[in-house]
Amino acid sequence: MLKTGATIGILGGGQLARMLALAAAPLGLRCHVYSPERNSCAFDVVHASTCAAYEDEHALARFANAVDVITYEFENVPAKTAAFLAKRKPVMPDPRVLETTQDRLIEKDFLSGLKIPTAPYGGVHSATQLAEAIERIGLPAVLKTRKLGYDGKGQAKIAKAGDPMSAWRLVQSAPSILEGFIDFEREVSVVVARSRDGKVECFEVTENEHRDHILKISRVPAKITAAVETQARRIATRIAQAFDYVGVLAVEMFVVRKGKGHAVLVNEIAPRVHNSGHWTIDGASVSQFEQHIRAVAGMPLAKPMRFGKRVEMINLIGAEVNEAARWLTVPGASVHIYNKGEARPRRKMGHVTRVWTTAKR
Ligand code: AMP
Repeated sequence: MLKTGATIGILGGGQLARMLALAAAPLGLRCHVYSPERNSCAFDVVHASTCAAYEDEHALARFANAVDVITYEFENVPAKTAAFLAKRKPVMPDPRVLETTQDRLIEKDFLSGLKIPTAPYGGVHSATQLAEAIERIGLPAVLKTRKLGYDGKGQAKIAKAGDPMSAWRLVQSAPSILEGFIDFEREVSVVVARSRDGKVECFEVTENEHRDHILKISRVPAKITAAVETQARRIATRIAQAFDYVGVLAVEMFVVRKGKGHAVLVNEIAPRVHNSGHWTIDGASVSQFEQHIRAVAGMPLAKPMRFGKRVEMINLIGAEVNEAARWLTVPGASVHIYNKGEARPRRKMGHVTRVWTTAKR
């Protein structure tokens, strides 16, 4: 277990690193953030920071020297960077996880290998393969680049009578994956933590509402049956165990109707703390950020308990951050502003958590 005053190195300097550092302080731990971006919002709240490229081996070596363990806030850490650091200090979660989760096709094959249901899918490397995949999977479908897509970027829907070639052009003929379009009832996620000694704690299943492919609202409890809750937690636990994971990961899932009941399909794995877990800062007895820090520091995990009857997290996207002053006056609302500078459209600038207790307000 890390001793009081030890330092956790974090790759990436966005809001996730910022909230990780804020959660480390009460545990007596320091954070050192490494980010190539000068205006990284995590720099505001850390003990030390390094602003350098992920390819800068001198800066990486100095960073590794200055910290006790290393973790990351995003899944696109270059494999070479992770490998370089792993030779010098423990990196958690293991960089091998990145190889799976950085590539949608490898990720889906990994899930299939664990017999975890997903949308029907197929790899697409050429226009001919796209036609073959459509023949097998059918339309509507979604074409997604294998790498570097998020918040709907690098994705093109092909409608029932749509034009596959325009989708192929939209993804710029990049190696891709075709997925059957899922007519889901709702989207949910499970944030799960696994400790160094293999203990697992899931947060409650969270229901997610997206607008324009970006998460807008997360709610707990999710409107799902006990059977779906159990299935979703089991899937997340199995993934964490299969990776021999240390830290927090999130699994995004679709809930679909199946006969008289429901089934869960996995959409995506995020090997990090996740936007749909932000509600846990104000709405639970332990936050996903504290849970991640506990795991990488070799501390015992906490058992998460929700505060209140229900909790809602609302993302402040782009200019919505200007509504912060109004949110400050709303009873039961907690305001989190990331201080990311310019409020560009589609940019996550902050969030609000609302906790409804049984008491009347
Ligand atoms: P992703 O980047 O894979 O997380 O996708 C972003 C959003 O697009 C998801 O949260 C869904 O709302 C939607 N989406 C992605 N894949 C599918 C699919 N196969 N069927 C239906 N909707 C999808």
